[in-house]
Amino acid sequence: MIDSILAGNARFRSDEYAPHEDYYHTIAEQQKPKVLWIGCSDSRVSEDIITNSRPGTLFVHRNIANIVAFNDVNIAAILDFALLHLKIKDIVVCGHTRCGGIAALETGNVEDSYIADWLCIASEALDKTEAAARRRKLTHEQKMELLVQENVKLQIRHLSQIAVVKRLRKKRHWPRLHGWVYRVETGGIDIVVDGNEVGRSG
Ligand SMILES: [Zn+2]
Repeated sequence: MIDSILAGNARFRSDEYAPHEDYYHTIAEQQKPKVLWIGCSDSRVSEDIITNSRPGTLFVHRNIANIVAFNDVNIAAILDFALLHLKIKDIVVCGHTRCGGIAALETGNVEDSYIADWLCIASEALDKTEAAARRRKLTHEQKMELLVQENVKLQIRHLSQIAVVKRLRKKRHWPRLHGWVYRVETGGIDIVVDGNEVGRSG
């Protein structure tokens, strides 16, 4: 497997890098990504590929179940750098269908304690979804779909409460916060939170 990844890099150099050498030399000097992407670590949701974006387009943070945690130095540093230095004005939180992290959140059957602790941060989305599932008599599949969406909405709310984001949005009306769900079954993206709407309403 490792050999095929290195062989893939050789093909990338010959088929993509070499024909677009000017572009790659420009971004080698300085990156100017326009979007911060917060996604899941799942191997099926590679942001550059599913959005057909070249290197240099997206500044990226990925973790299990695309969670925006408070007291997380990792995401805090990412946000500082993305917003204060790169001046990125759009943040996308992208969840996805058939997310293993979200499935574990729903069943609660997680033996690894760090993963269980991590998923606790999304428990508000689970409570909301379970109430809606009972009220609307959702099937398990519909419930899982709703949970993925509710988790994205919750993480957008978390993001909007983080100090640097809150301060900038109050003063400058950016970053805009976009909530999306990528469908692994079709390759399509659904908009769950319209960042432009959120931006306008402040
Ligand atoms: Zn996932």
